[in-house]
Amino acid sequence: MKEYINRAEGALLHTYNRYQVVFDHGQGVYLYDTDGKKYLDFCGGIAVNALGYGDAELEKELIDALSDQIRKVSHISNYYYSVPAVEAAEKLTKAAGLERVFFTNSGAEAIEGLIKTARKYAYLKDGSNDHEIIAMEHSFHGRTMGALSVTGNPHYREAFQPMIGNIRFAKMNDFDSVMELVNEKTCAILLETIQGEGGIFPAEEGFLKQLRALCDEKDILLIFDEIQCGMGRSGELFAWQRFGVKPDAMATAKALGCGIPVGAFLMSQKVADASLVAGDHGTTYGGNPLACRAISTVLDLFEKRNLTAHVKEVGAYLEKRLDELKEKNDKIVDRRGVGLMQGLEFSEPVAPIISKCLEKGLILINAGANIIRFVPPLVITEKDVDEMMGILEDALS
Ligand SMILES: *Cc1c(COP(=O)(O)O)cnc(C)c1O
Repeated sequence: MKEYINRAEGALLHTYNRYQVVFDHGQGVYLYDTDGKKYLDFCGGIAVNALGYGDAELEKELIDALSDQIRKVSHISNYYYSVPAVEAAEKLTKAAGLERVFFTNSGAEAIEGLIKTARKYAYLKDGSNDHEIIAMEHSFHGRTMGALSVTGNPHYREAFQPMIGNIRFAKMNDFDSVMELVNEKTCAILLETIQGEGGIFPAEEGFLKQLRALCDEKDILLIFDEIQCGMGRSGELFAWQRFGVKPDAMATAKALGCGIPVGAFLMSQKVADASLVAGDHGTTYGGNPLACRAISTVLDLFEKRNLTAHVKEVGAYLEKRLDELKEKNDKIVDRRGVGLMQGLEFSEPVAPIISKCLEKGLILINAGANIIRFVPPLVITEKDVDEMMGILEDALS
């Protein structure tokens, strides 16, 4: 592995401090490195590989569908229609209860599209170009300039100023802090339904309901970033469905393609009718037949396997085991999360714990310096949770 790592560091732009491991292939909920060592995966490619890897029966269906599509055609152009795009669009809009979808290549690109949607919606109302978006502190929406501008982490933005203008930051779950920023120029309120990178902070039901009422009253777009917390991770297909607080528009990505790089943004018919029109937005790859075949098959497999019900069950078990660990370990100060999106906050940096777990064959990631994040494949079982807890407890001692 050392040789591969040296070669990688000789050619890749160093924008990540990578763990010193070279992964080769996956099987079930395990990844294997190039030396053949096996790792239980509780990172899932950062909440992407919901169906696990390779040999699982479900994932095989995805592989078969993708192979079939590659043989037919991977890419055409958005100037033409394709059957996979029709099917993916129908299934995703139905699942989200939002009438219109635009397919992208990534999460950040979906956020970019939503920023444009919000600005256009407000522009068509009053013809002015000074609208504001309220986002949340500690949020994460991606690394492109627009997505970075609404990301509530000053450290990520610092060297890249100026951002796109007129972004304000409120505090998650603090409605008063939103009210302080709202004015006649506000065109959208954007938040992750469960904050991921910022440290696993779920939006509270009451907060979401207050935002919904405010946005209805003032004709402001309520936009949810479901890129990490969506696609079943919360025990509902989209995390807002737990409370029935429906956004006007939302972004999804990560597990949407279970490894094929895809994203999407969706909106209600009302917003679609009063925002982007032909010529306003586009993408070369977004929504190509291969990407859409992935989305379409993933949605079928989620339903076939009743994955959301499974997540509710195994998520509750993970939560229980993490709470028990917290009781026993006074370095753990909090456990937060929903379903299979959980965080354990420690009173000290968790990097050494994560490295030790990796040595012992368990993949975990952090979310902020002091928080271990658990975003495993959604197909994990209680047995996998037990194995993970065994390694983690061993590493902690
Ligand atoms: C990962 C993530 C993004 C960015 O998605 P990319 O595909 O990396 O561009 C945006 N928002 C949230 C909540 C994310 O977790």
